[in-house]
Amino acid sequence: MIELSDRLLAMEESATIAMSRKSRELKARGKDVISLSLGEPDFNTPQFIKDAATEAMDNNFTKYMPVPGYDDLRNSISKKFKRDNNLDYGSDQIVVSTGAKQSIANVVLTLINPGDEVIIPAPYWVSYIEIVKVAGGIPVMVNAGIEKDFKISGEDLTNAITSKTKLMIFSTPCNPTGSVYNREELRDLANAIKKHPSLMVMCDEIYEHINFEGKHESLAQFDDVYEQVITVNGVSKAWAMTGWRLGYIGAPKSIASACSKVQGQFTSGTCSITQKATIAAMEANPSVLKDMITAFKERRTLVLNALAEIPGLKTNHPGGAFYVFPDCSTYFGKSHEGYTIKNASDLCLYLLEESLVALVTGDAFGDPKCFRISYAASEETLIEAMRRIKQALSKLK
Ligand code: PMP
Ligand code: GLU
Repeated sequence: MIELSDRLLAMEESATIAMSRKSRELKARGKDVISLSLGEPDFNTPQFIKDAATEAMDNNFTKYMPVPGYDDLRNSISKKFKRDNNLDYGSDQIVVSTGAKQSIANVVLTLINPGDEVIIPAPYWVSYIEIVKVAGGIPVMVNAGIEKDFKISGEDLTNAITSKTKLMIFSTPCNPTGSVYNREELRDLANAIKKHPSLMVMCDEIYEHINFEGKHESLAQFDDVYEQVITVNGVSKAWAMTGWRLGYIGAPKSIASACSKVQGQFTSGTCSITQKATIAAMEANPSVLKDMITAFKERRTLVLNALAEIPGLKTNHPGGAFYVFPDCSTYFGKSHEGYTIKNASDLCLYLLEESLVALVTGDAFGDPKCFRISYAASEETLIEAMRRIKQALSKLK
């Protein structure tokens, strides 16, 4: 008998990936499933990026490269940080990885000893918790309810800090709530962070460009916490490059070198062709993303309007990303044909079976009262999905 490690046995499968797998299986069996489960843009990668990849192959950029990324790519990321975020990260402070997922894992493995506490505001993105657990860290969730637009304050953070706290991880814009921290809210967090000089904070800004309300703000902009912050970003979301696998960090030099050391043992640098293509994305004016962002904004309106017509669902007003995270707790205790909804996982299963719409339960994101809708799908698909959800929920008595 094969005995898997305790580390592996303690790990949950990614709920977002599990749900998209389940809907692919149902589709393969001929079911007309609409999957709003995966956070993946339905757009194609812009042509100029694909052209840069072709050129890289033609020029034989097909060999091992420096572990933290090609110098010209890191220079272009350094300029991007300055241009878009007013952040000063030299190329030796930048590490390019196989997706932001690996960037996050590198940082956690670099900083966390067994028993260290990692503060994670909830709702959070699924993988933070599992990555922290693999490193032996203890995730400490700080709840930010819908009435607070799912955001925590400096005071909430302060109250969660103990002598064992080492790191905090959060995203803005947030997956799964779409909430965006404004400058004042980040300043408030920074005031709490600076009082604890040994606390490090990973600010995941992968949805930076998918912001409908205002300018994206980075936590590292505040000089008094700059040395405590690791800024995470990547090309999967805004540049519709999920399959290319490239994420990156800007961080204090010692952390960047440590992440490079970890990566040198695990994976080396990410795909050479992806790296060269990413230079084209980094050097492009982000205004080329305008049409994509406008489409996401229109879809947000569509989904929010449709949700407002469904009795009993409560939402915040998501300022970014491409998710809505409705509170569905008024449906708990209701039944249809002998099936009783006890929690959001039951509701997601019910909606999958009754209406063939795949969503992800809020349990996976640390809020069992909610579920996540990813609206990175065509308007036509979203209209049909919302019609089905409304109909299935109306049957619950
Ligand atoms: N952070 C957040 C908040 C995400 O939603 C995702 C989605 N995959 C990632 C990081 C990882 O992105 P990737 O590995 O595709 O760069
Ligand atoms: N981040 C996306 C999501 O939340 C993609 C899936 C994943 O990597 O977990 O759905």
